[in-house]
Amino acid sequence: TITIAGAAGQLGAAVIDGLLDTVPAADVIALVRTDERGAELAARGVTVRVADYDDAPAVTAALADADRFLLISGSAVGRRFEQHRRLIDAAVAGGASLIAYTSVLSATGSINPVAPEHQQTEAYLAEVGVPHVLLRNGWYSENYAPTVEQASATGVLLTSAGDGRVASASRADYAGAAVAVLTTDGHAGRTYELSGDLAWTQDELAATIAEVTGKPVAVQQVSGAEQQAALVAAGLPDGVAGFVVGVDAAIAKGELGLVTGDLSALLGHPTTPLADTLKAVVAS
Ligand code: NDP
Repeated sequence: TITIAGAAGQLGAAVIDGLLDTVPAADVIALVRTDERGAELAARGVTVRVADYDDAPAVTAALADADRFLLISGSAVGRRFEQHRRLIDAAVAGGASLIAYTSVLSATGSINPVAPEHQQTEAYLAEVGVPHVLLRNGWYSENYAPTVEQASATGVLLTSAGDGRVASASRADYAGAAVAVLTTDGHAGRTYELSGDLAWTQDELAATIAEVTGKPVAVQQVSGAEQQAALVAAGLPDGVAGFVVGVDAAIAKGELGLVTGDLSALLGHPTTPLADTLKAVVAS
């Protein structure tokens, strides 16, 4: 069997779609937070188990017969490591033969604000000694939906990323890589640095947004402190603004621009161009 945690989320839904093209629904177990989140999956013939990551007995029961397990990282930043550890312990107790974990691109030594919990989870998987594969996902192109909206409304793309590049790919691409490691052999022990085939600059992002919206976009490069002040002045809470500035610092350092070809190799085709994803974002 293949068990997916975070199955009702956006990445999880795309993984389920890919799995159901490849394996029988009876082989797929979806972990969801609530009954309601599992209804659609159950209707597709997938086995649904309800477990909030903070509910230890429910997590243990949900993973009691785990075989191949995809742990899609959680969304409760600051509490995720504790949750991931609980899921890993339960999957190991259940006899999991492989755990695939969605980490972040360039995780080792990364200054990306999301990196610490990924680093902790990667280290825990190694410490426990369970066969595992690290899917170090780069940025989703879909993350730029708010940037498209903002830039087309104001004509300005504010950034402190300098000439740092971003090798983004679509969520569907990352989902395809997860499906590949869950449905083919030989991935235990591997660390895949997954990213788009092309790493774009902020100028290229602005040009792509202009292309898909038909409105001109000018890039305004500022310091991290200036960006922080501008975001707070625009109404963002301090912490959220700090997160955005921290991500731009990681981009400026080149962490999210790493291109390895691992993603297209696992997919067996090129990754989805930024423009295609942004076109879909604008159309939706
Ligand atoms: P989503 O927020 O759509 O999915 C996260 C899933 O995790 C949801 O289904 C959510 O359940 C589930 N979840 C979170 N906390 C709990 C909990 N306590 N108990 C049970 N389920 C829980 O994110 P995506 O699918 O877009 O992305 C997947 C993960 O990738 C994110 O969680 C995040 O770690 C990371 N990420 C990576 C990005 C990148 O660019 N590389 C960008 C954004 C996120 P529910 O459906 O009930 O809310």
